[in-house]
Amino acid sequence: MRSKWFGVAVVAEVREGKFHRSTWELLGKAYELNSKLGECVYCFVVGKVSDPKEPIYYGANKVVYVEDPELSPMRPREYVEVLKELVLKYRPSIVLGPATLYGRHIMPRLAAKLRTGITADCTDLDIDEEGNLVQIRPASTGLVMAKIVTPKHRPQMATVRPGIMKPLPRDESRGGEVIREEVKVRYYGDVEVIEKVRYETKVSLAEADIIVSAGRGFRKPEDLWMAKKLAELLGGVMGVSRPLVDAGWVSRDYQVGFSGTAVSPRLYIAIGISGSVQHVTGIRGAKTVIAVNKDPNAPIFNVAQYGFVADLYDLIPKVIDILSKLRRTKAAHQNP
Ligand SMILES: Cc1cc2nc3c(=O)[nH]c(=O)nc-3n(C[C@H](O)[C@H](O)[C@H](O)COP(=O)(O)OP(=O)(O)OC[C@H]3O[C@@H](n4cnc5c(N)ncnc54)[C@H](O)[C@@H]3O)c2cc1C
Repeated sequence: MRSKWFGVAVVAEVREGKFHRSTWELLGKAYELNSKLGECVYCFVVGKVSDPKEPIYYGANKVVYVEDPELSPMRPREYVEVLKELVLKYRPSIVLGPATLYGRHIMPRLAAKLRTGITADCTDLDIDEEGNLVQIRPASTGLVMAKIVTPKHRPQMATVRPGIMKPLPRDESRGGEVIREEVKVRYYGDVEVIEKVRYETKVSLAEADIIVSAGRGFRKPEDLWMAKKLAELLGGVMGVSRPLVDAGWVSRDYQVGFSGTAVSPRLYIAIGISGSVQHVTGIRGAKTVIAVNKDPNAPIFNVAQYGFVADLYDLIPKVIDILSKLRRTKAAHQNP
């Protein structure tokens, strides 16, 4: 059974004619996995995109494209039917999708149609000695990192949270093939799209270059002014750990981590954050991490390049004061 399945497929997320960046992240991982298998990286594209060659520049060997503007994840029955046909025709041994709203909607339905399992929200993926996909994700509320393999069933399916995997640099010299497929699909007509309403997020953590994050070391919501002010002085944005969201201090848009947003800023400052697995999973892409914590044994110091063992209520107002003075001095020099 296993020998009939071959290659790694990425299910592309298409939003209003454009590829979502999670597609490039998954292709980067698929490329890496395939370097251990020596098979083929597919990208399954369903819907309508302006340039179906684009996935090739991010690592796909073959783009299988079903062009149909009527096909949308908002009509999941038809959409999944098409994907199922593609999987059964090309028989990839591994099928990856994003753990976005789109992926959560589509991928479990696809797994059920294919009568196989799926591991949701993986934080990493690998290939074992037998060529099986190793699906890695926190389990038991983060106490263990589970490694899940599916030795008997094909395809092996997993979703990955956006922002965790690194895309390959876009390279137009990469070669590949676009295969156009027509899939006859029965329109059930049981979903009617009446209106599309854009949800505006309050903060764009995924794209932020500098993030100052606050954790449970902050005693009350009013104290968040320190994280906001420091972020503003550094030209960044504020993030938080999950307990502050659960307590209703700020909206989920601000949450960094496994069940929030995975971030990849140039600078990440974690203040009063212990460094749980779920939080740290979301900051793996950060280039430099600075931690402020009064506990010298806090796990956040294991991932930080710079650490301050200090009470945030002493340290942060002083840092804000110094940066504010520097800013005023700079402004005075520029406008004497
Ligand atoms: C399924 C699941 C998903 C989850 N997803 C996420 C997620 O996406 N993001 C996330 O953040 N969490 C997530 N969590 C929660 C996670 O397990 C932790 O509970 C959470 O990250 C802890 O937040 P914290 O570090 O702010 O709080 P704590 O762990 O309570 O740490 C507070 C820290 O502040 C320090 N501190 C206290 N006072 C001061 C002071 N005055 N000055 C300096 N330091 C001080 C303490 O020493 C401590 O280290 C998830 C949990 C589960 C089960």
